[in-house]
Amino acid sequence: MLGLLSPPTTQTHRAENGTNSTRESKPREPLRPSTSIYTNPLLSLTATQPREPPRNTISNPGHLRRMDLITKESGQLGKNASLQACEDSVDALLDFLEQAKANVTDKQYMAQVHTMYTSQVAPQIIQTPNDVHKAISRYGKALDRTFKLNVNSAASSIVQIASDNDDSKEAVESREELNRAVAVHLLRLGEFDTANIFLGESATKLPPLLVEQFELLYDILRSMGERNLQPAIDWASTHQRFLDCRGSDLEFQLRELQFKMLLSQRDTSAALAYARTHFQRYQRHYLKEISQLVTSILYSYTGNSPYEKTGGEVSGDDHAVALKTVQQTLIKEFCTLLGLSSESPLVQAVSSGTVALPILAKMGGIMKTKRTEWTSSNELPVEIDLPPEFQFHSVFVCPVSKEQTTDSNPPLMLPCGHILAHDTLKAMSKDSDRYRFKCHYCPEETTFPHTRRVYF
Ligand SMILES: [Zn+2]
Repeated sequence: MLGLLSPPTTQTHRAENGTNSTRESKPREPLRPSTSIYTNPLLSLTATQPREPPRNTISNPGHLRRMDLITKESGQLGKNASLQACEDSVDALLDFLEQAKANVTDKQYMAQVHTMYTSQVAPQIIQTPNDVHKAISRYGKALDRTFKLNVNSAASSIVQIASDNDDSKEAVESREELNRAVAVHLLRLGEFDTANIFLGESATKLPPLLVEQFELLYDILRSMGERNLQPAIDWASTHQRFLDCRGSDLEFQLRELQFKMLLSQRDTSAALAYARTHFQRYQRHYLKEISQLVTSILYSYTGNSPYEKTGGEVSGDDHAVALKTVQQTLIKEFCTLLGLSSESPLVQAVSSGTVALPILAKMGGIMKTKRTEWTSSNELPVEIDLPPEFQFHSVFVCPVSKEQTTDSNPPLMLPCGHILAHDTLKAMSKDSDRYRFKCHYCPEETTFPHTRRVYF
């Protein structure tokens, strides 16, 4: 058998250089999952937020020990001297196949392909040595021992997965909704070609404007990356009223960064002229910031500005941090204008689902052994403690009926300040506007018309 493991560095190199076979070998790194999706600015909001480790797993010392075992085994595998030879052998074969694929229409080339294989490639292909086999097997066992989760038990008990043949209205709508979520996610990633192919193949319709808008967003972000803020400033100026209504400081952030960039080029007169022309509009809300920015011009040559943090004295990181912050604000405002959340719902769903999975799997197991069924359609029978970034709104559970309030059964406040659900109060008032009833908590009496709807 051939060695089929290849560390991420080799793969990246292949993607950059295509079929070039004279690659330099890079120092080996321990095997680890790729984090490339987080390099995308649209996803970086998720990546930069501190995330609490899911309870029941990482905080458990037993799991920590097993995680150490995985790290150790992957390190051992990475250090295995024979692994590089196996990878080189596989790479040589892949390069040969890529080359053959590229020349498949060339009859002369194809006539010689078998001879070339036996003379050039076959001698390089080696059998995977036993120690590599053993290291891979130990690494696999360490993974199996740590991640015992039976995902199937979570899925089967929680969701009824609609099959592709299910033509019921609900199933069709669910499929369409999921396809739209995937397509919008691809647009958020800037993968416009892939999104177009997906839209075509899945016959999914998105508003044409949405695709155009994401293309525009990516053009703006790309320009910002090249230190050209003008397209972003133009966009913010066009949507000034929308941004003002939201109390967004995007436009000022952009102007401020532009000013700092001018100042760090030691172009003090240009910076001063820029401040005079553009900062006036923001005086009402940002007078302190503007004063500090303008005064920092005085220190632009001495380098010991007391306005270090606000002024233009940023040279080392080339405004990279400030630029990233402004980009994230822009993405947030841009998505809000389109009526979308600032982070991909697909990423949110998968991330929160991953945190919830161990609990759901455990619940699935218990329900299977007890032969019970989960009947409530919009509420889980267990509480799942999600990190704050996955919590979007407060929920209120009526202390009498123990039901979570909804739009059709909203929370209502009594004159004494205590809150109960609509249906509970209807029952307590015997469905009459004149019947006086006592609060569940205190002795105060009231009637139903004296209650008020509460919004959390
Ligand atoms: Zn009360």
